[in-house]
Amino acid sequence: MADPTSSAVLQFCPRCGAEPFARKAANHLVCAACSFEWYINPAVAAACFIFDDRNQILLIRRQKDPGKGLLAPPGGFIDVGETAEAGARREVQEETGLSLEAVKFLCSQPNTYAYGGYTYNVLDLFFTARVPAFRGVKTGEDVSGLVVQSAAEVDPAVLAFPSMQAAWRHHLSGRG
Ligand SMILES: [Zn+2]
Repeated sequence: MADPTSSAVLQFCPRCGAEPFARKAANHLVCAACSFEWYINPAVAAACFIFDDRNQILLIRRQKDPGKGLLAPPGGFIDVGETAEAGARREVQEETGLSLEAVKFLCSQPNTYAYGGYTYNVLDLFFTARVPAFRGVKTGEDVSGLVVQSAAEVDPAVLAFPSMQAAWRHHLSGRG
């Protein structure tokens, strides 16, 4: 599939199977046969920059593409019916074993996420959290390793996605 964007991949109507599932607008597909309409809204993901009392930060190394081998704050897609805060805490638990009591909203950034031949439009929600120390952390699901580094030494450019880089710059600027 040369063009992995939504309207190129979603060729057939998901309700009746007719073709074409025509593009009415960049984010709006309509079936010519049964009039079923589909709006391409962003999926929601949450990630958390976690600091300890020594102002170190806990990052994960991504096990899979997109961004395989690159560093990122722990996070992932929000489940249907889940709050972003609960999703952020769940993903942190799954990826690092760390149980967070609370997370604080930092900022949001749009992102795209190419997976399985389809490019998802995503809204990334970024949070921060504090723990006394990174005791008992363990490499969890979809993670090839954990990195603890002085927060002052984390260059935004090392993070996997432009959205994460922008969020980290937002934190470093003192606005978050
Ligand atoms: Zn249809």
